Amino acid sequence: MITGKNYIGNQLSAKGDKTFKTFNPELNVENEHIFYQATTEEINEAVHLAEKAFEEYRSFSGKQKALFLRAIADEIEALGEQLIQVYCSETGLPSGRAAGERGRTVFQLRSFADLVEEGSWVEASIDTGISDRTPAPKPDLRKMNIPLGPIVVFGASNFPLAYSTAGGDTAAAFAAGCPVIVKSHPMHAGTGELIASAILKAAEKTNMPNGIFSNINAIDYNAGEQLVSDAKVKAVGFTGSIKGGRALLDIAAKREEPIPVFAEMGSINPVVVLPKALENRGAEIANTYAGSITLGTGQFCTNPGLILGIAGKQLDDFTNTLGAKIKEISPMCMLHPNIHSAYEKGKTKAIAEENVTVLANLDQKVKTNYASQLIATVSGKTFLENTKLHHEVFGPFSIVVSCENVQELEQIIAKLEGQLTGTIIADDNELNNYGELIAKMQNRVGRLIFNGVPTGVEVCPSMVHGGPYPASTDSRFTAVGVNSIKRWVRPFSYQNWPQELLPVELQDGNPLGINRVVNGKLTNA
Ligand code: NAP
Repeated sequence: MITGKNYIGNQLSAKGDKTFKTFNPELNVENEHIFYQATTEEINEAVHLAEKAFEEYRSFSGKQKALFLRAIADEIEALGEQLIQVYCSETGLPSGRAAGERGRTVFQLRSFADLVEEGSWVEASIDTGISDRTPAPKPDLRKMNIPLGPIVVFGASNFPLAYSTAGGDTAAAFAAGCPVIVKSHPMHAGTGELIASAILKAAEKTNMPNGIFSNINAIDYNAGEQLVSDAKVKAVGFTGSIKGGRALLDIAAKREEPIPVFAEMGSINPVVVLPKALENRGAEIANTYAGSITLGTGQFCTNPGLILGIAGKQLDDFTNTLGAKIKEISPMCMLHPNIHSAYEKGKTKAIAEENVTVLANLDQKVKTNYASQLIATVSGKTFLENTKLHHEVFGPFSIVVSCENVQELEQIIAKLEGQLTGTIIADDNELNNYGELIAKMQNRVGRLIFNGVPTGVEVCPSMVHGGPYPASTDSRFTAVGVNSIKRWVRPFSYQNWPQELLPVELQDGNPLGINRVVNGKLTNA
């Protein structure tokens, strides 16, 4: 049941008088439930409870944490059709997408359960002491990862499940041993409350301390800013716009004790289409890209917003086919009227720039909150000179850049801001001639794709979902896959510490049988 209240620890609470509703973009009406914005006092209480919960939860075993994470996944599945209905009513996204995202969310939770149950993720390392070393004895040093403390998580509008309340950030933080306070996304507050209730049911069933999780509703920025400023909060996970992520990063940096903000933000995901590939299968590539640009109404951080090629007949044929294919695709609903109007504004601004040609614009009248997709073209020179064209337009929009030669293409890649992904479309052996281009791409992106599309982010340990700023605020970490746990821990050393007081991960007998580096050698002995 949706109450519209905040979860302050395991208690429902609605002390404030500021309220809001979510919106059904497909029907163009507000949804019925009223949500209560959390007050300053309620937020203080949530953070206080999180700090207290951390004292206990930080030393819970991997097995206990795994039970909790698996119970959350089970409780989310037990929400059944209600979750799918509320998700769709708050996003305009189809039920198949909702079910797919739920599958990914529970998979993430269970992957983290497996990780912490096995235990080697703590990266234990032991350097035994040498008491008779001269001129001074060598101390016994033992190191492992330990949790940071209470984490605040902001979810994105376009992933109400996988990157929101019990999404990757929350799952990774729980796995690390950190309590979580979620600033629920106001556009899908009902979905958020259902997931929050599932987390708290799981917490009760697995005897987690009160305060391990809170869910804060807010329609303005105050709640989020208060959470990031609170001295008891030790790190922030954010998925959203560059503007939002940067604002929170700046707040965190100005605190008396600055804390890390792991913000995953927007991207235009450059795609380079090389001449031979275009010559041999240009129409096929155009068809694939028409699908990728419009997938999920273009509302993906991995949407291909920039396609680069070398001027010539092959590129002209490709862009014409892409334009024709794009026109054949039926427009779809966007997440919210605000996202829709931001898309229309961004698109209109981009095509009003000098020397931008509209290649394919859907002229037909579309329904309210539906996006009409658009492809624009510019020369390499224009794109190089006009950095306004380098910004993300969140929706089904892409610019095809026609470069004079490879050198100009390389210059453009080098000038781009940091990106989540880069893609190169090439034919057999064609790549061998583009070493410099590949090196430049690697310098700008977190993931390089060969002959594919950037949309679709596999959840597995080798995935890097992040990239140089502003794709993310810290390119050393991924936000997707089990390695994202590393954002919520710090390395910690014990020196000459008594065996019986060491955590089991660092004791001589290796009671958990985990992989450790002992005197420089990886072993599970
Ligand atoms: P958003 O507008 O930045 O909102 C994200 C969350 O941050 C919301 O809860 C929002 O609260 C809050 N927020 C934004 N600005 C804030 C500020 N100045 N102070 C405090 N809180 C603030 O982004 P969105 O529309 O939800 O998501 C779309 C964007 O996310 C796109 O740019 C997309 O590329 C990006 N995205 C990135 C990834 C990734 O993994 N890199 C994944 C998905 C989406 P309010 O709603 O109250 O404003």
